[in-house]
Amino acid sequence: MNAWDRALKALATEIEPLDFNTWIKPIVFVGQKDDSIHLEVPSPTFKERVENSFGEKIIRALQQVSHITNVVFFVRIVSEKKAPIENFSPVSAPPAETGLNSRYTFDKFVVGASNQFAHAAAMAVSKSPGQSYNPLFIYGGVGLGKTHLLNAIGNHIHQTYAGLNVILMPSVSFMNEFINAMQKERIPEFRMKFRSVDVLLIDDIQYIAGKGKTSQEFFFAFNHLHDRRKQIVISSDSAPKDIRDLEERLHSRFEWGLVADIRPPDLETKIAILKRKANIDNIDLNDDVALFVASKIKSNIRELEGALTRLAAFASLKGVEISMALTKEVLRDFINLEEKVITVELIQKVVAEEYSLRITELKSKNNAQKIAFPRQVAMYISKELTEDSLPEIGKAFSGKHHSTVIYSIAKIEALRKSDPEFNKQINSIIERFR
Ligand code: ADP
Ligand code: MG
Repeated sequence: MNAWDRALKALATEIEPLDFNTWIKPIVFVGQKDDSIHLEVPSPTFKERVENSFGEKIIRALQQVSHITNVVFFVRIVSEKKAPIENFSPVSAPPAETGLNSRYTFDKFVVGASNQFAHAAAMAVSKSPGQSYNPLFIYGGVGLGKTHLLNAIGNHIHQTYAGLNVILMPSVSFMNEFINAMQKERIPEFRMKFRSVDVLLIDDIQYIAGKGKTSQEFFFAFNHLHDRRKQIVISSDSAPKDIRDLEERLHSRFEWGLVADIRPPDLETKIAILKRKANIDNIDLNDDVALFVASKIKSNIRELEGALTRLAAFASLKGVEISMALTKEVLRDFINLEEKVITVELIQKVVAEEYSLRITELKSKNNAQKIAFPRQVAMYISKELTEDSLPEIGKAFSGKHHSTVIYSIAKIEALRKSDPEFNKQINSIIERFR
């Protein structure tokens, strides 16, 4: 007979039969370690009620029959998916222990060509967790909406499936909790926590790549959950194959389900995001300003939002509308900052794209006309937009002599004067850096 069974006898005499049947009987003994006992309860609310109303009695009963001084309650793993609740309302904020941010929902996520794949996959996973793509692996650059999507999945599941245990955490927190558990010799509790999860959302997995024990622990948790068809969603700054130091076994598991990328947003999506945000925050934003801001901020959506917040703050401080003039004034620093990072490499990239060449071709010694001409354009733009000297520019194009650079610049300058169409094209390339 285990300590819990013995304690039950004492509790039965202390607690009214109705309460005993409702709140004590459903508790299941899981295990015991040193002076701690692990008990399983059916739901988070149940747990709260038992702890508050009967916690002390339970401890006392246990102390009478054993040397146990600590009770740890776990919420039961749900084996069968509960049906979604129809017309669920009101929308409640997710509890803190889920790690979810209720601000990030699907309805606030603007879908465009750059993120529609990841968005569709995220929706599919939220509708039937553990049953469509598992794991779902979402990757993309900074500020492109990965954390937003992970939260949207978590919030949606939390609201539509009662009793599913959802946890979202950055991989760094997983690591910290694990290290903490090791130091306090509480690894069993740590494992119990992650293994009783129904939906595990881990943000920025790249940070635990190569972190020996932590990534091994994550590997165990992953296997445990995946075997039980629990939904796993992972985000990262790059594709599994490109994460540095990632163990092969994790790499291959990350590709078991679906890998979806988020690319930098196109202009239309950026404008839509600005408008949506302006709408939510009650900011008056006209089309010209939206277009201007969207075209100035290159890709990071966080910066896009930052620019809008800043604009709104200035306008309200000055008590004026958000005009084009105000926008240019307020965002000057923002934009100048971006301009400072124009490099020859960046110019090579843009020009290569414009002429459908590879960067390596542009930088090669190949003098075929279809490569040599774009190369001259790239040299010319490098002179216009960077502080680099002619020899430095030459060097960036597989060590061209600076006289070659001078010749290229003169040629493009002349052509701009004589050919308006060409001049327009060069202007539009240069415009992309402004
Ligand atoms: P990441 O985790 O990829 O670095 P975040 O999810 O933190 O990026 O997104 C940065 C900011 O941009 C957040 O405030 C987020 O709400 C917003 N954001 C990103 N993508 C979108 C989108 N498609 N629609 C609306 N807002 C977005
Ligand atoms: Mg993020």
